[in-house]
This record gives sequence, structure tokens and C-alpha cells, in this order.
Amino acid sequence: REKSREAADPAADSSPKLAAAKHQDEAASKKKLCVKAAKEHSIPEGLNKVLENKVMETVLDLSYVKLSVVEMTCSGDADSEGIVSKSVSSHSDLIPGVYEGGLKIWECTFDLMDYFSEAEVEFTNKTVLDLGCGAGLLGIVALRGEAARVHFQDYNSTVIDQITLPNVVANCISEGRRMGSGKDTKASKPPSKRPRKAAGSPDVLNRCRFFSGEWSQVSQLLLDSNKPCSKYDIIVTSETIYNPDYYSALHDTLAQLLDRNGCVYLASKVHYFGVGGGIYLFEKFIEEKNVFRTRMVKTIDQGLQRCIMEIAFKNSC
Ligand code: SAM
Repeated sequence: REKSREAADPAADSSPKLAAAKHQDEAASKKKLCVKAAKEHSIPEGLNKVLENKVMETVLDLSYVKLSVVEMTCSGDADSEGIVSKSVSSHSDLIPGVYEGGLKIWECTFDLMDYFSEAEVEFTNKTVLDLGCGAGLLGIVALRGEAARVHFQDYNSTVIDQITLPNVVANCISEGRRMGSGKDTKASKPPSKRPRKAAGSPDVLNRCRFFSGEWSQVSQLLLDSNKPCSKYDIIVTSETIYNPDYYSALHDTLAQLLDRNGCVYLASKVHYFGVGGGIYLFEKFIEEKNVFRTRMVKTIDQGLQRCIMEIAFKNSC
């Protein structure tokens, strides 16, 4: 199992600081310039096409698109990232504009998956948001746990189109028979490199929506939308508090989108060296805003120290 995790997270430095630190010197000038517009991604009609040219890998019982292959097939596809005010920096061949780290599976995702099973977090009939989803594995776990609706958000639209959506299709459509079993997360199959055909029930996708863009823009889009969008019972978010510059947008998004009695499960490293964010800084930020209460529910000491924090409204039951 540890091996699989390494395979999913090949970078020796497992902190999102690479994603953010690279931008640090430009951050001041970009902060005001660059607010990534929000967009809802439509679900393609021909689902088999979604997995075309994708090479799949497996971690635990979940399939995910091999990122290096996406990178090879998409480089040069520089149109897809609409940025409200132009940002000139490019930190990935694949993603023009600002890239926020959704191209790999970060280790706190696995911490949160472990926590969901240890604490028997119940997704059945819940409305769930995977905020800063990247590969979307947390949302996929919620779908498998029979959530009523799961929405996925990533900063980068290329991540949603090329990674998140294909991963949902690979795990939930092509293995439709597993969807009913809900909590079957045992690794029962050998890793497969070939994409399975998207042949199961596409109904699962009726329970999903996909969004890209900066948090404040996405929450505005959701709140303004004609489509009814009830607030979320559960928001899951992993490795999204590395950059203190985003705390205000993140906090407001949680406050706007979480149901009064809902709960946020946030997984993070204790400290993000080089970027400055971390769990205690975000905890303090939340305290000062006086909207939410927090509870540290798990600390993981192997490797870089990491935490799982629950966040709920102060006046919730
Ligand atoms: N949750 C995934 C995981 O654990 O593998 C991805 C983590 S990645 C380090 C950080 C994620 O947060 C990215 O997917 C990025 O799109 C999102 N993100 C970070 N800052 C953001 C912002 N200001 N607005 C919207 N999304 C943001």
C-alpha cells in the first residue's frame, strides 16, 4: 500500500510548495491581476472518448489517469485556461497561466481517505463538494459512498477535463457494478494500465458537476446559477491551505457554500516550508473570523507532520 502511494506521488518533495513557491516572486504583481474565471464543465456525450488515449494507474482500489501521459498528449494545447485578467506566467508545459498543483495526487488525500474509513464518515444521500480536487479521489470516494451529489472544483480547467472527469468515469462508470456496494474499498484487482471501457451506468454522472476557477469566482457562479444548488453537507479539501494569500477566499467560500449543519474535512501538512501556510496559521485565521469552530481530529507523524481538521459553523448543532 505504501508502494502504491509512492507511485501516485512520485515527487520526492511531497509538499505543494513546488506549485506555489515557484510563483512567490511574481505573486505580488499577480495577486491583483489574476482572478481565474469560473466555469462549469459539461459532461461529454461520448463517455468512451473521455478515456481515449488515457493510461491508467491504480492506487488502493482507485484508478487514476497517468499524469505524465496527459502532459505529453496535451502540451501545446494552450487555449483552455481562461483567465479574467491576464497572467503571464506559465509553470507547466501543460497548464498555461497559473497552476495550483492539481496535476498530482498529494499525500493528504490519502490521509483523508484513511480518516473517512476509520471514522466511518457517512456520505449516503449527502451533498458533497471536493474543493481543490485535483485528481478528485476524495469526491470519488464520496460517490462510491452513495452521496446524492458530488461537485468537483479545481483551479485549472485542464485538470478537470483531462484528469478529474476521466477519473470519475474510470472509477464510477466503467465500474458501475461497484457503485452499489458503496464501501468496498479493498484493493482486489492488480494494477491495470489500460483504460477500462466506460460501459457501466452513466447515471452516476447525473450526480456530478465539475467546475474550474478561483474559489471566490466558483462560489459566485454556484450562488448565481439558475440550477438549484443546495448548500453542501460535506466539503472535503486536501492540501489547499499552503498559501496564506488565499485564506480569505477559501474561508469565504466555505462560509458561503457549507450548509448550516454541514462539516468540512480539511487535510493539510502542519507547515508548508517555503510558502508559509499551514494548519495552525489557518486555524488562527478561522478563529479570528469567528464564523467557524474547528476540531483537530487526527495528527499523522510519519514523514512531514500532517493533520485532519473538522470545521463547522459556530452555531451549528
Ligand atoms: N486536493 C488535491 C490533492 O490532495 O491531491 C490537489 C491539491 S493541490 C496541491 C491544491 C488544489 O487547490 C489544486 O487542485 C488547486 O486547483 C486548488 N486551489 C489552490 N488555490 C486555489 C484558489 N485560490 N482557487 C481555486 N482553487 C485553488
